[in-house]
Amino acid sequence: PSITRGVTVEIPKITWEDIGGLKDLKKKLQQAVEWPIKHSAAFSRLGISPMRGILLHGPPGCSKTTLAKAAAHAAQASFFSLSGAELYSMYVGEGEALLRNIFQRARLAAPSIIFFDEADVIAAKRGGSSSSNITVGERLLSTLLTEMDGLEEAKGILVLAATNRPHAIDAALMRPGRFDLVLYVPPPDLEARHEILRVHTRNMKIGHDVDLRRIAEDAELFTGAELEGLCREAGIVALRENITATVVCDRHFQTVKASLKPALTKAEID
Ligand code: ATP
Repeated sequence: PSITRGVTVEIPKITWEDIGGLKDLKKKLQQAVEWPIKHSAAFSRLGISPMRGILLHGPPGCSKTTLAKAAAHAAQASFFSLSGAELYSMYVGEGEALLRNIFQRARLAAPSIIFFDEADVIAAKRGGSSSSNITVGERLLSTLLTEMDGLEEAKGILVLAATNRPHAIDAALMRPGRFDLVLYVPPPDLEARHEILRVHTRNMKIGHDVDLRRIAEDAELFTGAELEGLCREAGIVALRENITATVVCDRHFQTVKASLKPALTKAEID
C-alpha cells in the first residue's frame, strides 16, 4: 500500500564505533537517546520528562543519518525514516497521512526513533513566500507539531530531525517539548578524518605503504561521505590495475585523491 511507501522499519546495525570523530557529540546523543529509553523508570522516579526531539544540523555527508542510526542501535530502538522532500512531493493529504501513520507505528513499536531527513523542506518558516505550495508545507508542519505534542503521553519515542539549513526551520519547532536539543554536526577535523579512514578501511586489505594519517592531512574539507568514497574508489583502482590484486596500495589512494575535489568550501564551514 502506498501509504507506507519509502518507509523502513528496523533496528539499525550501525554502532558508535562505525562513526569516526565526534566524540562529544556521540556522548550527548547517548545521554539524550539511550538514557530515557534504558532508564525510563529513573526518569519517572525523578519526574523528569525525557526529550522528544533533537535537531541535527550541519553540512551534507557528515554523518547526521549515521548518528541517528547508531543512536537507535545503542538504544535498541525501532528506526523509522522519513524525508521532508518525499513528504512534500506527495499528493495532497498523502503526506499528512504518512506522517500520522509513522507516529502511530512508532508508538506500537516503541522504543522508537523517527528520523526525519531534510526537515527544513516541511518545517520551513511559515509565511513570507508567495508560492501556492506553502499550504502543503504548512499542513505538513502542523501535522508534525500535533504529533510531536502528542508524544507527551507516549513513552520511548524520540524524533531526530536533520537539516543542512537550520536557519530555515520554523521557530515553532524549537520550542521546549519539541526540538529541545539542537546539535551541530561539523565536518571532520584531522583527527576525525583519520578515524573515518580507519573505519572505512577496516575490512579492506591495505598495503604497508598506506599512511592513513597522511591521507587525512591531505584531505582537508573532505566530508565523511567523501572519505568513504575515497576508500572504495581506491579499491576499485587497485582492481582496475590488476584484477588479481591482493592489497590496495598508497598509489591507488593517491590516484583517487588527485581526482577528487571536496564539495565543501572553507567559507561554508567557518
Ligand atoms: P545528508 O545531509 O546528505 O543526508 P548526512 O549528514 O546524513 O548527509 P550520512 O548519510 O550519515 O550523512 O553519511 C553519508 C556517508 O558517509 C555514510 O555512508 C557514512 O558511512 C559516511 N560517513 C559520514 N561521516 C562519517 C563518519 N564520521 N564516520 C564514518 N563514516 C562517515
